[in-house]
Amino acid sequence: MTDIKKHNANWKSRTRLVRGGIDRSQHGETSEAIFLTSGFRYDNAGTAEARFKNELPGFVYSRYSNPTVAMLENRIALYEGAEAACCVASGMAAVNTALMSILAAGDEVVAARALFGSCRYIIEDLLPRFGVKSTLVDGSDLQQWEAALTPKTRAVFLETPANPTLELVDIAAVAKLAHAVGALVVVDNVFATPVLQKPLTLGADIVVYSATKHIDGQGRCLGGIVLASRQLVEEKFMPFLKHTGPSLSPFNAWVLLKGLETLELRVAESCRSAARIADFLASRQGVARVSYPGRDDFPQAELARRQMAGGGPLVAFELEGDKERVFRMLDALSLIDISNNLGDSKSLVTHPATTTHQRLAPAERAKLGISDTLLRLSVGLEDAEDLIADLDAALSR
Ligand SMILES: *Cc1c(COP(=O)(O)O)cnc(C)c1O
Repeated sequence: MTDIKKHNANWKSRTRLVRGGIDRSQHGETSEAIFLTSGFRYDNAGTAEARFKNELPGFVYSRYSNPTVAMLENRIALYEGAEAACCVASGMAAVNTALMSILAAGDEVVAARALFGSCRYIIEDLLPRFGVKSTLVDGSDLQQWEAALTPKTRAVFLETPANPTLELVDIAAVAKLAHAVGALVVVDNVFATPVLQKPLTLGADIVVYSATKHIDGQGRCLGGIVLASRQLVEEKFMPFLKHTGPSLSPFNAWVLLKGLETLELRVAESCRSAARIADFLASRQGVARVSYPGRDDFPQAELARRQMAGGGPLVAFELEGDKERVFRMLDALSLIDISNNLGDSKSLVTHPATTTHQRLAPAERAKLGISDTLLRLSVGLEDAEDLIADLDAALSR
């Protein structure tokens, strides 16, 4: 975590993604440098002492911070409109850092039931082992949130749109309820991307990303980001990160920095294609239901328009028939890849019931709307016509 410097406050968002946070070396390189170094040397012993006492700015050890990682932190903080950011090794390290840093034994956490599988593990299995009570609610039901919140609730955790059904949670409404009991609001903003949704402006306190997804956007490396106030970052996240060590490699930070430069362009193109694909699927025989936040028939279309600047790069849909028919369709795809990943330039399709959510009991899957015929499509950067042709041909088998 370092200061957000070397930027112009008037820069528009696209300029921030390309120019924000640059910290050039004495060589004046145009592209950001990769500082693949674990440690740093000091000109004299007094400087070393001053850096350790935080009396002099500068780097100490790459477990704490690193110039390339700091450039990424400054750039994403500037784009998100956050006071500060910390980058970590994966999205799950970001979720774990956000929650473990602010919770202690005796506290309570309330979370939306529809979560990325590993997030559910942290909330349901890990935190209770350390004396944190967790309660899961139906994220779209404000009465359930209100009933679950108590004066001991220190954090609420939610994902919107949620994986894999794309159900939304009203961030502003949940933040109001959570703040009334003094709880911090943590939003996993991966599915909306930083381009389409700004949780901090809607009342969230902490935003987490798997940068592995759309921020890299080309399926190359893992990374995670936590954004919040300077106070939270300095007092809660940095001590946790410094001493537990889920550090982001400077090389991965560099890949993600370059990913940010094209983030808006890529997300806009994937959203355009996703909207076309959702419309195609909605009119296609053999498709039982399409769930896309950008369509008027989306059950929470009004909320989607209110808190998102677009329908997003993911489409969920259910086929008619059974699991065997769905598998036949998946196996007949020749362009779109079967994968549990998302946010890649290559379009990827997932059967959540047998992969990402197979750990859940059938009754719990049913509660979440994850049927055996549900598919999640992460729309990449191929030509939308080729993607539609691939889906059309596979659906005909
Ligand atoms: C992928 C993902 C994560 C975890 O990120 P990793 O980088 O794989 O650790 C967390 N939340 C959501 C919504 C995700 O899609």
